[in-house]
Amino acid sequence: MAALQVHQFPCLGDNYGYLVHDPEAGLTASIDSPDAEAITRALAERDWQLDYILNTHHHADHAGGNLALKAATGCRIIGARADADRIPGMDVLVGEGDSFALGRHTARIIETPGHTRGHICYLFEADRAAFVGDTLFSMGCGRLFEGTPAQMWTSLQKLMQLPDNTRIYCAHEYTQSNGRFALTMEPDNPALQARMREVAALRAASQPTVPSTLGAEKATNPFLRPASTELRATLGLAAATDTEVFAETRRRKDQF
Ligand code: ZN
Ligand code: FE
Repeated sequence: MAALQVHQFPCLGDNYGYLVHDPEAGLTASIDSPDAEAITRALAERDWQLDYILNTHHHADHAGGNLALKAATGCRIIGARADADRIPGMDVLVGEGDSFALGRHTARIIETPGHTRGHICYLFEADRAAFVGDTLFSMGCGRLFEGTPAQMWTSLQKLMQLPDNTRIYCAHEYTQSNGRFALTMEPDNPALQARMREVAALRAASQPTVPSTLGAEKATNPFLRPASTELRATLGLAAATDTEVFAETRRRKDQF
């Protein structure tokens, strides 16, 4: 089976657009629809036709291009059952454990409430590719607009069970500012220091820092590291639960 192809391109200010393509079936899906014009250009560049939009959540920088792209291409739109009333143009409603087939490449749906209550991720298991929207960022995580810290921590733990070599395709280029915060939490984490040097070099060369890998995130992302002794010492929460450490880390980041 030919590998799933992923075409990544910048959209809006700091979003990434992603087209995923099964070359054998000749089928293409856009992960979210941040910018209909940028996605239309990306499709033309590859000479791909849009068959599907896979929405992660309802925010305008993720679903704002749905109706324009559907009108232009006749694509079908897949999204969370929980967002049936607020993601425009949906045709197929999905939830935890459902799967979506792009030709012979199958994505499993993982519900990850926290950033929004209906947020879902698309995991192409055989391809080791996870499209995580605004749930997990490189060295960061989404703001808790609609969920509780406990919900978000439960969601992140689901993603942490994936293999370490899973590529993490986040929806925004937030890595460097996330990393600056991460360093205030764990200044002595050598993996974090090394990742920040790598990120600085990539950004200086105008290169994306995304995708990351789950293994790299587990080593550097404070939101996946509530067990870290150094993080707990920074927060003064040596004996707290992981959920409490996660919640305090998120609160500090909101004020950073
Ligand atoms: Zn969002
Ligand atoms: Fe977003």
